[in-house]
Amino acid sequence: MPQMNVESFNLDHTKVAAPYVRLVGVIEGQLGDKIYKYDLRIKQPNIEHMDMPALHSLEHLMAENSRNHHDRVVDVGPMGCQTGFYISVLNDDSYENMLEVIDKTLHDVLNATEVPACNEVQCGYARSHSLEGAQQLAKELLDKRDEWTVVFGDE
Ligand SMILES: [Zn+2]
Repeated sequence: MPQMNVESFNLDHTKVAAPYVRLVGVIEGQLGDKIYKYDLRIKQPNIEHMDMPALHSLEHLMAENSRNHHDRVVDVGPMGCQTGFYISVLNDDSYENMLEVIDKTLHDVLNATEVPACNEVQCGYARSHSLEGAQQLAKELLDKRDEWTVVFGDE
């Protein structure tokens, strides 16, 4: 396959083993600041995917709660294929810390009693949410916590 501009387009999605946390890349600014982008893969590509309401609520919950565990979260964004999220942080090169932040954030999801900003003022599709669905995803991820560092099936 030809080399593509987007890193994940060069990733063989048939070889990965979800769930996992993978460093996608590092972008350095002129002053030396660095953005670390991670691929948090939740569902096995082309086998499973997250339902939109569950994915959407998990996005709200992770975007809001992750910032209680890390003060330089740039973004938590869902993948269009509905199999995972991209999480970007500024000036933190610790993969282990990223795992901890995700772990703590998912425990927040389990303990949540409502989805933050789930209304028409603060969200663009406020009807499409499922706290239960998000909590099921968080539980599945935490149940496989020891697999997060293994990205490829044959490792
Ligand atoms: Zn929303």
